[in-house]
Amino acid sequence: MTFSVTILGSNSAIPTLTRNPSAHLLNVNERLFLIDCAEGTQLQIRKFHVHFQRIQRIFISHLHGDHFFGLIGLLNTFHLLGRKEEIHLYGPPQLKEILDLQLEVSLTTLNYPLLFYPLSFSGFNLIHEDEKVTVHSFPLLHSIPTCGFLFREKTQLRKIRKKILTDVDIPVSERHNLKLGKDFVDAQGRVFRNDELTQDPPSPRSYAYCSDTAYTESIVPFIRGCDLLYHETTFMQNMAASAREKLHSTTLDAATLAKKAGVKKLMIGHFSARYDEIEPLLEETRSVFPGTILAEDGITIAI
Ligand SMILES: [Zn+2]
Ligand SMILES: [Zn+2]
Repeated sequence: MTFSVTILGSNSAIPTLTRNPSAHLLNVNERLFLIDCAEGTQLQIRKFHVHFQRIQRIFISHLHGDHFFGLIGLLNTFHLLGRKEEIHLYGPPQLKEILDLQLEVSLTTLNYPLLFYPLSFSGFNLIHEDEKVTVHSFPLLHSIPTCGFLFREKTQLRKIRKKILTDVDIPVSERHNLKLGKDFVDAQGRVFRNDELTQDPPSPRSYAYCSDTAYTESIVPFIRGCDLLYHETTFMQNMAASAREKLHSTTLDAATLAKKAGVKKLMIGHFSARYDEIEPLLEETRSVFPGTILAEDGITIAI
């Protein structure tokens, strides 16, 4: 099953020619979840050849412009392209008022249902669940209410060993029980243990999205052990005072948190436009957490 993330924007507040502000696109089994939607996101979607209409759910972390100023444009494009399929939108409660006003004054009635789910800014909340994945929100520490998101695959069924099906006559009607972990008894009463017939499914993968936030260990329990943590690093360490003041993080903040949470891989982004080169941010982060990669516009990472 596909479980990958494409970076549509890796910068903080101000776009540059090579780095757009925040937007990530998560592919879960070919269904697309858009996470944040900065100004220009729909152009990035075109540039990186994403099939627009496959976006089903949109998650907005908070109402700073670099995370949602592209939303009304994208929703309007869906409308103009004749979309009929519903969009599920998760965001701060005021987002609904903003969109309603934008649609009202432009006399726009969307062709498709826009289903809105307000986020809560306390606790670890299940906000979406289907047969493949769960999505939880949790509070970050920022200058306005902000949520992080955890996307986690569900545990898949056990896999029947291919060779077994040629060696043992297992009726099709019994195969689902094997995948659920049950033993098999044949017509002669012989018992076959499940672990001889099946193998463990791949372990469920997870992606945590944390932008924007100051350093806070309160999120460690929510992201512990995840396969890929995206954590903002707006600043290098020599600007720690600015980071504290603006409730953002530095390279070493993100690296320390990744280490404390025991995540497998860290991806950094939300870079200040002051940095022409972002390699130094990578080097600084890797000095504490070697398993770090850079968010760069257009890259796709298999989780
Ligand atoms: Zn931001
Ligand atoms: Zn912000």
